[in-house]
Amino acid sequence: MTSSDKRRGGMESTRKVAIIGAGVSGLACIKACLEEGLEPVCFEQHDELGGVWYYTDEPRPNQGATIYKSLVSNRTKEMMSFSDFPQPKEAPPFLPYTQVHSYLQEFADKFELMKFIQFGVQVQHIWRADDYVTSGKWMVRTAPVATDNNKNTSPQTSLFDSVMVCSGHFSKPFVPKVPGLEEFTGVVQHSRDYNGAESFKGRKVMVVGGANSAGDVAAEVAQVASVVYLSVRDGTWLFPRLAGGGKPRDFCIQRARQNLPEWLKRILLRRQCNAFLDHENYGLEGCKDPIYGSTMINDEIAFRLATGKVVTRTVVERFTRTGAVFTDGSKIDQLDAVIFATGYNVAIPFLESDILPRDVGDLELYKMMFPARLPHSTLAVIGCVGTIGPIFPVLEIQSRWAARVFSGHCPLPDPQSMQEWLRSNREKCKSKIGRVSLMVCTLPYCEDIAQELGVRPSFWQLLPRDPYLAYLVYFGPAFPTHYRLVGPHRWAGAARHVKMAVNNTYSATRKSAQKPEDCLSAKVTIVKVMFTSLCVIALGIVIGISY
Ligand SMILES: Cc1cc2nc3c(=O)[nH]c(=O)nc-3n(C[C@H](O)[C@H](O)[C@H](O)COP(=O)(O)OP(=O)(O)OC[C@H]3O[C@@H](n4cnc5c(N)ncnc54)[C@H](O)[C@@H]3O)c2cc1C
Repeated sequence: MTSSDKRRGGMESTRKVAIIGAGVSGLACIKACLEEGLEPVCFEQHDELGGVWYYTDEPRPNQGATIYKSLVSNRTKEMMSFSDFPQPKEAPPFLPYTQVHSYLQEFADKFELMKFIQFGVQVQHIWRADDYVTSGKWMVRTAPVATDNNKNTSPQTSLFDSVMVCSGHFSKPFVPKVPGLEEFTGVVQHSRDYNGAESFKGRKVMVVGGANSAGDVAAEVAQVASVVYLSVRDGTWLFPRLAGGGKPRDFCIQRARQNLPEWLKRILLRRQCNAFLDHENYGLEGCKDPIYGSTMINDEIAFRLATGKVVTRTVVERFTRTGAVFTDGSKIDQLDAVIFATGYNVAIPFLESDILPRDVGDLELYKMMFPARLPHSTLAVIGCVGTIGPIFPVLEIQSRWAARVFSGHCPLPDPQSMQEWLRSNREKCKSKIGRVSLMVCTLPYCEDIAQELGVRPSFWQLLPRDPYLAYLVYFGPAFPTHYRLVGPHRWAGAARHVKMAVNNTYSATRKSAQKPEDCLSAKVTIVKVMFTSLCVIALGIVIGISY
């Protein structure tokens, strides 16, 4: 075995991969392993797949983040689909959580993933095998989770060639340490335990936080509460789900825009946000740019602000027995409840801290996935990121890359180059947002990983093959299906779906029974003719200039 084979963890034929968790990431990993000829074994501590999308009225034992009953996805169904498994036509553009869960189940059924999942089995500990130095292998200790029917929780230890950690990074609810909180006599809750607004009827409530959960909870509680105070640290940028003409906002994620200079992107984004709602007039303004500041995708909160049911406040300086004092000196009294929608801490308790440090700043994950201090690339962490943009495409492309690295088709660079990447990423983070963070921008990040995988579509390569497809890939929304057009594990239906995706989005909301295919084919012909003519003219000009 050569030393580079060793870095890849060897080249044996069937390599066993332990996958921890059967949420979106775990499912994507099982499929990616199968595509790469690996043998996946997925351990899921609960009795269902779906991770956060598996809703129960009470949080399950050992559960990290939870969703609430009223949750509707903040990304379109197209951006919340796997690259080769489109969402159903009948589904609305934005999905209630039940439909996201059904989609995940259908995905697992279609690709026969269920047989690789061991439900009700918790991973307790992962450590290096005795011969790790030469083999890169891992020991994984699992134990069945005790239930009414099963009291046998004897642990079992197995050897694996590689490990994919898909346990969800939203693990432990984070509540900031605010002086006086322990003296406050009202209800104190984290959004993880929020389960509907009924108990806040007629109450004076404060929601702390400036991101999506804070917006969802504040808007819902405001329907029944006497008033909701929204305490936001450094403002937040409010984005509605829909832009002009009811076009989903995440359709603005396009390669053409990505290539604009950063200063222009910032101006455009700031303008778009303020065109929807002047942030200063509604108390949401902060000092950070929309790209790096806190963002809230919400359609209802603007109306609640405008009708005085939600009132913004700055940071809480301290709590009193019955209220709160803010950093600008203002006060609230007779406060009945505080809901902290302040996010989660990263926790991967089954990995030792020398493999994955507890502190986000020390994580040292090459491209947010591979612990760079390990001598073998046989362990990957999937989904340990926050995204500016949809997260599904990130989880899937990470899964595909990890599987391809494990199968030996995509070796990682040498340790020095990985350290160099970490150093420059740290500097970039610090200069842009003032600290090391797990945030990535969906499209540039996916493009980078897709390049590693060899699945990044190129406008110029697609142009001669199919000009309209090239146009859509560059100027249209960057759908996950784009990463099945070229390279390994292409999907034969990808080009057709790219052309149909916008229609698929609206197919459930249109009134007429017009077949999307009919309207598409007419448009395709027109755009093809226009686009090809433009290309010919441009080519003519270029040739003319060169001679
Ligand atoms: C309130 C909320 C709202 C959200 N809204 C959206 C949205 O609208 N759109 C969107 O795209 N994303 C949304 N997200 C992000 C969401 O987290 C991702 O879409 C995605 O589901 C993450 O999947 P995952 O598989 O990485 O993690 P999870 O979904 O957290 O899955 C992890 C799985 O690992 C299992 N597990 C953990 N530890 C162990 C162990 N030791 N042994 C065995 N199994 C284990 C867990 O039981 C779980 O099933 C939201 C998240 C939250 C919390």
